[in-house]
Amino acid sequence: MAESYKTIENPLEKLVNDLGKNVADILCPKENCKCVILRKNTATLVERDGAKLSLPTSTLPENTLLKPDEDNDTHFWHVGNMMDFENVGFSTTVGTTKYLSCADCDLGPIGYHDTTDPKEFVISIKRAKYRF
Ligand SMILES: [Zn+2]
Repeated sequence: MAESYKTIENPLEKLVNDLGKNVADILCPKENCKCVILRKNTATLVERDGAKLSLPTSTLPENTLLKPDEDNDTHFWHVGNMMDFENVGFSTTVGTTKYLSCADCDLGPIGYHDTTDPKEFVISIKRAKYRF
């Protein structure tokens, strides 16, 4: 069973081990989608400017799961290599920001890649489900 971010108490403690890595598999946030984005212990928790995830709404399919008016996402799971993802899709690019989506259902954006930095791939901690 995967748990959504909102149902996890003290997620910043529960989801992260002493080394700052994810202790649970990170799945697509969509109900019924079982796509695994990142396997446990592959990503590192970092803080980033969440404003990058505020997209022009027209760029991706309308989606009630990912409400842009929620608090800015500032915590992200970071990996330095695209190959570290178990599954991920790439959607539109705006400026130097390439948005990441679910490889199975195209839900997005769940994170982004900064095209000016080849080692900058991040997934929002809130836009995921977790399987412990
Ligand atoms: Zn999905």
